[in-house]
Parts: sequence; structure tokens; C-alpha cells
Amino acid sequence: MRDENCIFCKIASGEIPSTTLYEDGDFRVIFDLAPASPGHLLILPKEHFADLLELDEAVAAKLLPLSARVARAMKEALSCPGFHLVQNNGEAAGQTVRHFHMHIIPRYGKEELLLWKPGECTEEERAELCRRIGEKLQ
Ligand code: 5GP
Ligand code: ZN
Repeated sequence: MRDENCIFCKIASGEIPSTTLYEDGDFRVIFDLAPASPGHLLILPKEHFADLLELDEAVAAKLLPLSARVARAMKEALSCPGFHLVQNNGEAAGQTVRHFHMHIIPRYGKEELLLWKPGECTEEERAELCRRIGEKLQ
């Protein structure tokens, strides 16, 4: 499926040209327009899925092996000792483009890491959260 108003559908299909690192029947791997660090990549499925909860299982099964393959090449080529795989779901989590995409962000060891601030949780709170989420787990 394709969403006529989706920029990533247009990029993934090739309708909008992009510097493409890799392409196959399911995915296009491109460079982020506003990279967090040099080499920041995006893996776009060619089909339109808004987020992880919509992602087709067959496509999802290919995503992690491809992420590792691309990240391995990136590490070797750019000599970055680490990298992030990041995937945002929903506006509240910072997703700005509602077409599923996986970020691969190289880390060179000198950047400030601003991922999240460690918080606190009691054993009772954890048990209550576990009960509530567990009830919904299918
Ligand atoms: P999100 O915040 O949704 O997880 O990430 C969206 C990412 O897409 C951002 O990092 C943003 O810089 C990137 N982006 C937005 N529009 C374009 C575009 O037209 N081309 C490319 N290559 N990247 C884009
Ligand atoms: Zn799309």
C-alpha cells in the first residue's frame, strides 16, 4: 500500500530522488536529511506502514538482518565504534514522519549522549506495571 501524501512513500518508490545506499524489493536505505552524526541512515520499507504496530510481519522479519548488514558496513567504512538503532512510534515519542523507518546513527565516541534521563521505580510500582501490561499481552 502507498499513501499519496506521504513523503517517504515517494522517496521509497523513487518518485522523489534520493542518495540511495541500498535498495531491494522491500526496502530503500537513504541518508537522513538532518543527520544526528555523519552517516545517519534511514531504512524505509517500500510499503506504507505508519509505525511498528502496522508493520507487516514478513517485512519486519527482514528488517533486523538488513539493519545489521548496513550497520556492519557503516562501522567498517566510517570507523565508528558504536551506533544506535532507533525507531520512533507516535508523535509523543518524537516520530515526525508517519511512515515506519529505522534510524541507524553512527556514534564516534565524542558526542554527548542524550537518550533519556535515568529515573526511579519501586518494586511495587514495577509489579503493578507488570500486571497491567501483562493483562493485555497476547
Ligand atoms: P522521526 O523523527 O520521524 O523518527 O524521523 C524522521 C527523520 O526523517 C528525521 O531525522 C528527519 O531529519 C528525516 N527526514 C524528514 N524528511 C526527510 C526527507 O525528505 N528526506 C530525508 N532523507 N530525510 C528526511
Ligand atoms: Zn508512506
